Amino acid sequence: MPLPSMRLYGAKQCTAKSKRTGLPCNNPAAYGCRTCRMHGARKAESIKRGEQHPNYVHGRRTLEAQAEQSAAACRLQQLEDAMHLLNMTAAKLSRGRKANGYCKIKSVDEIKKVIK
Ligand SMILES: [Zn+2]
Repeated sequence: MPLPSMRLYGAKQCTAKSKRTGLPCNNPAAYGCRTCRMHGARKAESIKRGEQHPNYVHGRRTLEAQAEQSAAACRLQQLEDAMHLLNMTAAKLSRGRKANGYCKIKSVDEIKKVIK
């Protein structure tokens, strides 16, 4: 049951859920945050990103770099689809998980859309 302050003063409830029970946390959210102090309340402006983050080493694993790599892998997989569609190769399709945002090319019209 949430604390009475949440009911009386309209404080926001922590959005975290228990791993064990799946029930929502009953604590009030910290000021300006979505979660309580026990669930890592941090304001968006206090979160360090990129080179300011203490675990930053070389920049190959930043969110921007990963998004770039994922987009490049997606383009490469679509190029492979296009090659198979146009009978330019007899190689087998590559196996494994496809990149985020990948959608299979099924027709020549879709190839034209991707090339633009
Ligand atoms: Zn909480």
